[in-house]
Amino acid sequence: MDPFHLAVGQNRCPVCGQGALFKGWFTLNETCPVCGSRFFRDPGNWTAPTAFGYGIGAASAVLAMVVLWVIDGLASGSEFIIIGVAVGATLLTFRHVKAWWVAVLTRMGHVYPDPEPGPDETSGEPPAEEPAEEGAEDAAASSREPTARAGTD
Ligand SMILES: [Zn+2]
Repeated sequence: MDPFHLAVGQNRCPVCGQGALFKGWFTLNETCPVCGSRFFRDPGNWTAPTAFGYGIGAASAVLAMVVLWVIDGLASGSEFIIIGVAVGATLLTFRHVKAWWVAVLTRMGHVYPDPEPGPDETSGEPPAEEPAEEGAEDAAASSREPTARAGTD
């Protein structure tokens, strides 16, 4: 099925279509509980939906301001309505924006299960420890040159 329909329409993993995207109202699962696909792989991947969320808040605030201005010329107290509309719109669309973005990442090939840790990864060489040098005690040892000359009578 279409990953966008699965993610945005049903809040399901766009890879397998079964696992839940969210473990709470706001919290995205890091991996799909069914197929193990990792939704949150690189923090840099999430700049776009964050900006998109701010954009929704700002756009709805501007829209509310225009509506209130037309209705009653921005009477006293309008600011609370505008803030409420901005916060409400952001919260209402929050899950959809995140789910939509998981679908986008899936389309771009960024959502897939983590590779199983193979036996090769544990048979590597132990990290070599370098002995810490504790020399260099007092490098500023006095290297005073004797300046006293023999008397030149
Ligand atoms: Zn899945």
